[in-house]
Amino acid sequence: MTGGPAELVSRTPEELRALLPEVPAYRVGQAFRWLQKGARAFDEMTDLPLSFRARLAELGHLTAPTAARCQTARDGTAKILWRLSDGQGVESVLMRYRHGNTVCLSTQAGCRQGCAFCASTVGGLIRNLTAGEMLAQVTGTAREVGVPVSGVVLMGIGEPLDNLDEVERFVRLLAHPDGLRMSPRRVSLSTCGLIDGIDRLAAAALPLTLSVSLHAPDDGTRTRLMPGNPGVSVLLDACRRYFKATGRRVSYEYILLRDVNDTEDRAHLLGRLLAGTPAHVNLIPYNPAGRGEFRPSRPDQVRCFAAAVASHGPSVTCRRRLGQEIDAACGQLRRQIE
Ligand code: SAH
Repeated sequence: MTGGPAELVSRTPEELRALLPEVPAYRVGQAFRWLQKGARAFDEMTDLPLSFRARLAELGHLTAPTAARCQTARDGTAKILWRLSDGQGVESVLMRYRHGNTVCLSTQAGCRQGCAFCASTVGGLIRNLTAGEMLAQVTGTAREVGVPVSGVVLMGIGEPLDNLDEVERFVRLLAHPDGLRMSPRRVSLSTCGLIDGIDRLAAAALPLTLSVSLHAPDDGTRTRLMPGNPGVSVLLDACRRYFKATGRRVSYEYILLRDVNDTEDRAHLLGRLLAGTPAHVNLIPYNPAGRGEFRPSRPDQVRCFAAAVASHGPSVTCRRRLGQEIDAACGQLRRQIE
């Protein structure tokens, strides 16, 4: 139980009942609903007797990060910097699509994966976030921006499979019938490719979408970009096992870096590797960050790369750049204020 019993938002109704054996179960159910809705003070729980509110306050605390900064871009993308109870900063981004609003949230403060292009990893890993801190990013973002949220992507700061216990707890709480009732089908989890985590996720029977940050089809390039690379073929084998176990198509993210991984021969190699199993490739424009040694690919090269991959069968999309002027990518705001 990361966060300890005192972190009430991370607790399931069963755990809350065990912590409050003297309280009638229906009362505990009411408290659970308030917690999942993102109540920021026990006094907001107006249908609970004062004595029970006092008992809850004595037992634990509410995970209520404060919004240290909120920026909104012209396209409606909003980025929020949260200050957690211990002073750590993490970010969430609200992306507005025609089909609904999606929150991109952080799963760790910092990251230990060391990817060369990513700002989140610069100061290393500070700590894992709790399930309650992930939930609070969903409810807090909806509240700050004043819109409903219908999807979640675990693509903010951190490596979700390096904090899988809390991530799994979060996804189950999110789907709870007395909570936000968001199906795992509306959740995407993005990983740099931790093999044990992918296998555990396959066994967890959570129907979420797995996105793998691939970024290169050959080990030379991938290990240069992502030092934890377990080997492209080892990674793709794990993805095939995931597909076999869940029946869910895996998405691959691929940041196009000029003259590093965007040549036509890399595209054909990628296409050949993915051919035969249902796959989706999402080409991502590089957002200058990290150590600043890369440049984005030219638009004609992006088109050429996409066509070459698609010729082998995978579906290919190019990610739109949302919220560019507010640094809505990858740990950039957090670095600015530190
Ligand atoms: N650790 C997870 C999730 C966080 S990163 C993962 O690696 O997938 C979310 C996505 O943003 C990943 O695909 C990551 O590779 C990408 N990303 C990181 N830095 C970027 C940058 N500077 N420009 C574009 N995409 C970036």
